[in-house]
Amino acid sequence: MKPPRTLRITKENAATDLRDPSCPLWLSFCSRLLLTMTLASTIACTKAPTVSAAPTSEVLATSAAPQPWAPDNAPLPHIDAKRAFQYTHEVTAFGPRYIGSENHKKLERYILDHLKGDQVEDDAFIADTPEGKFPVRNILAKFPGTKDGIIVIFGHYDTNYPLRNTGYVGANDGGSSTAILLEYANQLRGGLRDKKRDGYSVWLVWTDGEEAIKTWTDTDSVYGARHLAEKWEKDGTIKRIKALLVMDMIGDADLNIDRNTNGAPWLLDLIYAAAERQGCQSHFYARQGPIEDDHMPFVKRGVPTADVIDLDYGYNNVFHHTPQDTMDKLSPKSLQIVGDTVLETVHMLDQR
Ligand SMILES: [Zn+2]
Repeated sequence: MKPPRTLRITKENAATDLRDPSCPLWLSFCSRLLLTMTLASTIACTKAPTVSAAPTSEVLATSAAPQPWAPDNAPLPHIDAKRAFQYTHEVTAFGPRYIGSENHKKLERYILDHLKGDQVEDDAFIADTPEGKFPVRNILAKFPGTKDGIIVIFGHYDTNYPLRNTGYVGANDGGSSTAILLEYANQLRGGLRDKKRDGYSVWLVWTDGEEAIKTWTDTDSVYGARHLAEKWEKDGTIKRIKALLVMDMIGDADLNIDRNTNGAPWLLDLIYAAAERQGCQSHFYARQGPIEDDHMPFVKRGVPTADVIDLDYGYNNVFHHTPQDTMDKLSPKSLQIVGDTVLETVHMLDQR
């Protein structure tokens, strides 16, 4: 017997929800035509996931209110996607990198080796999980800016724990997020003048313990992000955060970034506007719905957040959390699209 379906979409259960065998044709039909109605409201699909088709880019473009962000003549930023893809390859080559593992420690050293000369901090603690105590370590690289305020970018580097003995390597889920942040560090480091960037401070955070140890719940997930949210609430940092962006599963060769409605609408719109400037908006927001990820502890505390995620990894998300999450499913072009768009978003935030 099938357990009752939940309306809560998490990275853990989304795959199951999206693969609902009761209406696969409807799902296919809906997603291909980019219908503006929600899947949940269709008569034939009353139990469909809450992730739904969003207005097409054309509709968005014509119906949008005047943009609150002014055009500017700054050159569009571009990451070195070939290098970011190489990082993804190297990170994935360590093998499974779940918390508590030897490969996890190797990856910590790998990340730190790439941040030599940067302002690096870590946030290490012991997490109490359903499988016992585990060391968890968030790694931070801070790039100070001339403006008062912080833009935080998260990307988790741990891989799925329950799949640790299946050969699962998390090329997209864990690999791509680690790599894109390493490339952001290269870009931010290069843009420093007098040791400061022209804009807000940017803090890159390689988060740890994003994955659930057993089953995704509020207490068995996003261990590192929860720890940072509590810490930053206590020390007042949280009030200085202008925006918090999460990069997750952004390397899929068939790139469709979801509009994760667990986020600040104005920030989601800003990302779309940045994608338009880069001319790659067709890869954004064909679907929308609430997804739980590393940003949730900050959503709960009123921080403007956006989770940049493609939770349609393979047909009906079939590669997500399976040993099929391997390098051959990814492409440098996807890293380019997401990398460039988010850097332009940071630039646009700087102008606000
Ligand atoms: Zn995952």
